[in-house]
Amino acid sequence: MNGASPRLLGGIEAGGTKFVCVAGTGIDGVRAEARIPTTTPAETLGAVVRFFEDAVRAHGPLAALGVGSFGPVDLHPASPRYGCITTTPKPGWSGADLVGTLRRAFAVPVGIDTDVNAAALGEWRHGAARGLDTFVYLTVGTGIGGGGLVGGRLLHGLVHPEMGHVRVPHDHAADPFPGVCPFHGDCLEGLASGPAMAARWGAPAESLDETHPAWTLEARYLALALHNVVCTLSPQRIVVGGGVMAQPALLPLVRHELTKLLNGYVQTPDILQRIDEYVATPALGDRAGVAGALVLAAAQLPPGLGGVAPFI
Ligand code: ADP
Ligand code: ZN
Repeated sequence: MNGASPRLLGGIEAGGTKFVCVAGTGIDGVRAEARIPTTTPAETLGAVVRFFEDAVRAHGPLAALGVGSFGPVDLHPASPRYGCITTTPKPGWSGADLVGTLRRAFAVPVGIDTDVNAAALGEWRHGAARGLDTFVYLTVGTGIGGGGLVGGRLLHGLVHPEMGHVRVPHDHAADPFPGVCPFHGDCLEGLASGPAMAARWGAPAESLDETHPAWTLEARYLALALHNVVCTLSPQRIVVGGGVMAQPALLPLVRHELTKLLNGYVQTPDILQRIDEYVATPALGDRAGVAGALVLAAAQLPPGLGGVAPFI
């Protein structure tokens, strides 16, 4: 640092229900924080800009901003719609320009990625995926989403992965529930998200006790999806977070079911002997997203100024 004070970074976890904004030197050096409800783009982004203007007044100039966003979001740097939400069913948000709004307001570099890639980055830098170059972060909440690193780089590809919308075998006799995904009906999110559980069982997931049959069915769907992830990307670990995983009985059931489904085919002690570490909980809990957003901000800076890693 050459005696200079660490640079102020801004991180935003842009979610469908709230935007969590932090300003600081990193997740261990947060100076200001706010939770802003997701209403209209004008209102929410206006409040986000005001939060960072206040943070600048109190703590000095921003060096960069990072955003982990709900999506789908345009992540192609050359696209005219870069940093915009694309086809969300969320009213009013299609076309919302997150990066443009922030660049215009603060004239600093702005990094953006999906909410799950940001959370993956947070866990990679500070949490359960430290030292790994190929891993997946999956969240099971209002929606289901997955992100991660493959070969040391964040997964993007054509657009970005939509692991929550994979198709899993659906035994209609055992589970006649048609699914809630507006695009696919009974994709994984349609069958296993929090709203899917609430619709199937007529009660919110948090009200179903651990002996309820909901949890074995939920574990089955999640394990089927993890099976596909293991066979497709060969991750060194899978970190599973999100509100639905707050049911403590669920993750052990998922691990057990995944081991059964793989049936000894993928021969590695990480799965055969250490499944509890292989399918892990996020070490940062619900801070993974904002932690990763701050890493995305730091990644905008040249290495000598605290920039990090060639993972983008
Ligand atoms: P989001 O996906 O909107 O960021 P969360 O990850 O917190 O939000 O997930 C919200 C979902 O988690 C809701 O559908 C809710 O019913 C479910 N949920 C919250 N707490 C629990 C709990 N203790 N057990 C099971 N499900 C829960
Ligand atoms: Zn779907």
